Amino acid sequence: MAHLRFKAIDEAVNRNPLQIDFESNRISDVFGINVFDRSKMKRYLSREAYDSVVSAIDEGRRIDRKIAGQVAAGMKSWAIERGATHYTHWFHPLNGATAEKHDAFFTLDRNGEAIESFHGDLLVQQEPDASSFPSGGIRNTFEARGYSAWDPTSPAFIFEQSLCIPTIFVSYTGEALDFKTPHLKSLNALDKAAVSVLSYFDKEVNKVFATLGWEQEYFLVDESLYNARPDLALCGRTLMGHAAAKDQQLEDHYFGSIPERVSAFMKHFEMECYKLGIPVKTRHNEVAPNQFECAPIFEEANLAVDHNQLLMSLMEKIARRHKFRVLFHEKPFSGINGSGKHCNWSLMTDSRINLLSPGGTPKNNLMFLTFLINTIKAVHDYSALLLGSIASEPNTHRLGANEAPPAIMSVFIGKTLNGVLDDLEQRISEKKMTPDEKTELKLDIIGKIPEILLDNTDRNRTSPFAFTGNRFEFRAVGSSANCASPLITLNTAVADQLNKFKVEVDKLIEKGVKKDEAIFQCLRKLIIDSKKIRFEGNGYSQEWIDEAQKRGLPNLPDATEAYKTFLYPASIKLLGDNNVLSERELEARYDIHNEIFVKKVQIEARILGDLAINHIIPTAIAYQNVILANIKGLKELFTDEKEFLSLAEHQLQTLKMMAVHIKTIREQVKLMDETRRDLNLINEFPERAQKYSKQVKPFLDEIRYHIDKLELIVDDEIWPLPKYRELLFIR
Ligand code: ADP
Ligand code: MG
Repeated sequence: MAHLRFKAIDEAVNRNPLQIDFESNRISDVFGINVFDRSKMKRYLSREAYDSVVSAIDEGRRIDRKIAGQVAAGMKSWAIERGATHYTHWFHPLNGATAEKHDAFFTLDRNGEAIESFHGDLLVQQEPDASSFPSGGIRNTFEARGYSAWDPTSPAFIFEQSLCIPTIFVSYTGEALDFKTPHLKSLNALDKAAVSVLSYFDKEVNKVFATLGWEQEYFLVDESLYNARPDLALCGRTLMGHAAAKDQQLEDHYFGSIPERVSAFMKHFEMECYKLGIPVKTRHNEVAPNQFECAPIFEEANLAVDHNQLLMSLMEKIARRHKFRVLFHEKPFSGINGSGKHCNWSLMTDSRINLLSPGGTPKNNLMFLTFLINTIKAVHDYSALLLGSIASEPNTHRLGANEAPPAIMSVFIGKTLNGVLDDLEQRISEKKMTPDEKTELKLDIIGKIPEILLDNTDRNRTSPFAFTGNRFEFRAVGSSANCASPLITLNTAVADQLNKFKVEVDKLIEKGVKKDEAIFQCLRKLIIDSKKIRFEGNGYSQEWIDEAQKRGLPNLPDATEAYKTFLYPASIKLLGDNNVLSERELEARYDIHNEIFVKKVQIEARILGDLAINHIIPTAIAYQNVILANIKGLKELFTDEKEFLSLAEHQLQTLKMMAVHIKTIREQVKLMDETRRDLNLINEFPERAQKYSKQVKPFLDEIRYHIDKLELIVDDEIWPLPKYRELLFIR
């Protein structure tokens, strides 16, 4: 075994950066060449078909079948010209991956001759063989049909010679089986609600969309080292391994120069991103060794989510070409920072006004405050469900681990805005305000919000939900997550809150209160009612956890507890009333997430058990034998008992220590297996997951502890697995 480890290290060390020749180095030359975007549609579609697709994108209109036929024909011509041979519906099932089923464009005509074919029906709707995707019981096996249906708001693209058509994925009876369907619905609810509130400020606005700019963190590991670690290869994280003597203590990796091999990989995947229209912009080293980040220019949220999903598949593929493996797991290495995916979120009008950006005039600032304060209230009201929507088994290793926010939602807005909200709370009165008071309020407080908060906002990196000058940054999201999951909750909660706000303000106006004053009064109420979600201090500290408990804020570090928020009556009402997810769909999601949780822990337990019994213990025993032989030799040579004991002291102690670790590992693995066997008798996934979380997961930590101790004792020459210091060092 050990020779495999050294072979892997040799391979990794001798790896040279891959040279790639790009067709062109100018991004603008290649940007979007593999996307069927508006410019290509214009060229390949009739005027009628083009207008129809554009109004489907801009106004959500339906596309009729006849037009769909024309669009399909245009898409096909373009795709074949670009070298595509297949087409596929591309969707995001709930197990986190993306799914594709590729069909060739080719068919046989009546004379048995091969022709290229793709028609409207195949574009609009398909029935992928979907019985293997999780459905939470919505699709019974005898009715295992799920449908994928075209989402024209996200353009088709060519990936590896296949024309990929972004689609939603729903059951035969219409329930959502994916992330995209409810996300689109939430965006629609948000659009309607925001436009309606905007009638107070700007009647010209017809559409509001959410914007998303994600920041994707990831690790890179050399391929041969990765292959020599079955835990990494099968679970996406290391189940054992002692943190290296020098890892991130010096934080010298952060913003340091990027190793040549890595930068060759980055240039390569970025170029492929540009071809697919993904506007990646920044790249840098992260805090941990081998950890990196990339971020795009923000886009409309549905498109940005698709681009993030596509980016992850793309990175996995390109990494292999460079003999790397990319890790999106939230916590691949214990004792080393995990990976997140910050979701920068804002609202933008069709006239490209950012509603979370303060503007120079008091009127614009009142509009800004309206959206800011309503968002804060929405996060306040649905903080538990927001935690549920970012919960996953891997993210539990990260949240609250002093490197990521705790599993408590709070909102950070910075000193300036905090001052503004406090002032508003004090200065607005429920009694009728005099014109002077109103003018003073507007000029004094609202007029003085600096136009650029970006630079003078104190950056609080410990907040899970921070205002960063012209957007909120949702930081608790895990690196492998589909961003749509948290956005579904956020968009819907904000939409719901804006609708309530509209009703309240209108009520006051009807009573004869002036519009501005009505808005002021309602905002003041929201400020007061959402106060407890605002927190400016250190989110990683124990004091905050205590304080949050006093404030009654939910703290849900265990994913299986966080999932329960899906079934809170308030959640069912929120998502149901806004037509985003029905109770049945929520129940299905609850089931699916718990099932995935069980499977993840199950796989980890199996792999760890196998590695412990078949790799680690035999290696430890082999080393014990070496020590034993040494002790025997010493005993033979040094017949004086006292002298012998003094000379063999270290060896004897080591032998005993190893015996304790070996024994404990063996016992714990056995107990873990028995526990799992018992728990597998529980039929319902939620209950099984809750028990797995409390009863199986602790074994993983306990066993790991003893293996890591052995790693420190056993001769490095015979240790079977690549160690952290090897995995985390790219030369
Ligand atoms: P930082 O590391 O300071 O958070 P980055 O430059 O890494 O900053 O990331 C900022 C992200 O925020 C980018 O993805 C950017 O596109 C996004 N962003 C900027 N403005 C908006 C906005 N109005 N809506 C959504 N995302 C935005
Ligand atoms: Mg950030």
